[in-house]
Amino acid sequence: MQYHQDGFRPGDPALAPAQEEAGSAPEAVDVLVVGSGPAGLTLAAQLSRFPEISFRIAERREGPLLMGQADGLACRSLEMFQAFGFAERVLKESYWVNEVSFWRPGPEGLHRADRIRDVEEDLSEMPHVILSQARLHDFYLELIASGARRVTPDYGHELISVLRGEGTHPVTATFRLPDGSESQIRARYLVGCDGARSRVRGAMGHSLKGEAARQLWGVMDILAVTDFPDIRLKAAIQTEDRGAMLIIPREGGHLVRMYMELDQLAEGERAADRAVTPDLLVARAQSILAPYNLEVREVVWSSAYEIGQRVCDAFDDRDQGPPRLFIAGDACHTHSPKAGQGMNVSMADAYNLGWKLAAVLRGQAEENLLLTYSDERRAKAKELIDFDRDMARLFAAKPKGKAEEAQFQHYFKKHARYTAGVETRYDASLICGLETDQTLASGQIVGMRFHSAPVIRLADARPLQLGHILLADGRWRLLAFAPKGDEGAAGGVVASLCDALQPLIARFTPEGADSDSLLDLRAIFQEEHRSLEITRMPPLLRPRVGRLGLTDYEKVFCADPADDIFDRRGIDRARGALVVVRPDGYVAQVLPLTATDRLAEFFEGFMRRP
Ligand SMILES: Cc1cc2nc3c(=O)[nH]c(=O)nc-3n(C[C@H](O)[C@H](O)[C@H](O)COP(=O)(O)OP(=O)(O)OC[C@H]3O[C@@H](n4cnc5c(N)ncnc54)[C@H](O)[C@@H]3O)c2cc1C
Repeated sequence: MQYHQDGFRPGDPALAPAQEEAGSAPEAVDVLVVGSGPAGLTLAAQLSRFPEISFRIAERREGPLLMGQADGLACRSLEMFQAFGFAERVLKESYWVNEVSFWRPGPEGLHRADRIRDVEEDLSEMPHVILSQARLHDFYLELIASGARRVTPDYGHELISVLRGEGTHPVTATFRLPDGSESQIRARYLVGCDGARSRVRGAMGHSLKGEAARQLWGVMDILAVTDFPDIRLKAAIQTEDRGAMLIIPREGGHLVRMYMELDQLAEGERAADRAVTPDLLVARAQSILAPYNLEVREVVWSSAYEIGQRVCDAFDDRDQGPPRLFIAGDACHTHSPKAGQGMNVSMADAYNLGWKLAAVLRGQAEENLLLTYSDERRAKAKELIDFDRDMARLFAAKPKGKAEEAQFQHYFKKHARYTAGVETRYDASLICGLETDQTLASGQIVGMRFHSAPVIRLADARPLQLGHILLADGRWRLLAFAPKGDEGAAGGVVASLCDALQPLIARFTPEGADSDSLLDLRAIFQEEHRSLEITRMPPLLRPRVGRLGLTDYEKVFCADPADDIFDRRGIDRARGALVVVRPDGYVAQVLPLTATDRLAEFFEGFMRRP
């Protein structure tokens, strides 16, 4: 973490200096976020990183969520929390899913059919963890309130209508307040993160499309005593004729979540119509676990809810002109909790949209960038629905024999990468290149998230994960992996790249701003860190930054001989590679280190000159 850049400032460095109007609730804002679930809070967290962007979060509830709802956090979400700066807090409080067991009926009753590792080696530097959605909200709320505008949600604001008109703030949203009165907020952009029954989606004229059949699910968080041996492991249990259950151990060492698939709902029927009580869920869990005992001492939270596998036609209102309204999260796709994706995919939607809105609002990008949000995320939502359907079918099927048993486990293993959130791959577009030079960095796939690996920072010899420099600060990263023998000296490939990049960076960077404020160049050398000198690096890799013109010493890294990033990520040792990473951590381009013309052409496609 870098601070004191604009002069020494005592106190918590994570707290941005407050703006004069901090804490106010303007009637017209750049972005109005409706809903403070995982999608809304991720979007707000991203916007809060930019003091110049005004935003509000409107929430129907009277206050923050305290318990319940989703709890699975995929490796990729942890990587995103790292970019926001609160991954360590999540790691500290959460349950870590290390192994999964599978239980099946056998001649002697329920038996453990298999027990496997949950996340494969080197999938991510982050684990798969379980933490209450409510706690995650707490971390986000703190982060948002630490931004320069000190934003907190407007609780008790129920959206009742949205109108799109003309002018600088063309969207007008009307809210009903707890005392029955109404209030209006105008915005340049409105993002509906208002859940599965989204009013914003309705106002856009869109609907969720997909399977009419809706599955009823029961879920409970309990404190219990049991002789079932895998109560502290994630466990999938299938029985002959008593149904199936998923056990998810929870944070804190005692809490356990149990998911049970109940019935299909009839047309027009709602979960609430079935009166699924905690007692019913406890009895069902006891029956599935028999002959093991389950004594429930406290039902902390329980819920029954219906799931349809559905996705919306478009996630924006492009049919009305340049998009002004967007939806994210459950507002645009719904699926079962089996694959643990609801919260993760919702946050990924918002993370994809956040930097794009910020880039347009900050005058860095053309509005056409915004169209890529729906294009990219809708394609991923459709994949998720297909995956969820297959998973649901396999989970619900009565185990008939060894072949089906093996099929279920095989599917589970094969898709562990998918559920970890690291399989997302965006198609070639305005902001995602082709695979022409993919062989230069075979482990950094264009369209997929940048895959971290260890490096050593040259100036202070600090070992760190290279992926952890990808902060959620709206900047593009240009990662130059140097060819063998290059030490950064004049005339070398990296120094020549720096020379060629100077005019390109100057073209898009506003006058007076730091040279790395939009395009942030970093270099990774193959040489041992003690053999290189930071003072011999090209000026672009030691830029002067901030009000005082201090030197940034954190742009240059060396491979760690004990775990070499060039080997681990398939970087061409002879030619090196230029890996271009988007502000949301996805690889946009893999290019030769000499291809600055192609890089310029790429940025010209959507960036705006100041
Ligand atoms: C009751 C419930 C139980 C769930 N249980 C599980 C579970 O056990 N496991 C699992 O994986 N997933 C579960 N989910 C799903 C999971 O929580 C979601 O996938 C995830 O939260 C999606 O995030 P989101 O931000 O898109 O939507 P949400 O988390 O649904 O957030 C939407 C927010 O918008 C607010 N809102 C809605 N309408 C308006 C309005 N008109 N005006 C203002 N605000 C509005 C809501 O109050 C809410 O805070 C559950 C969801 C619900 C609602």
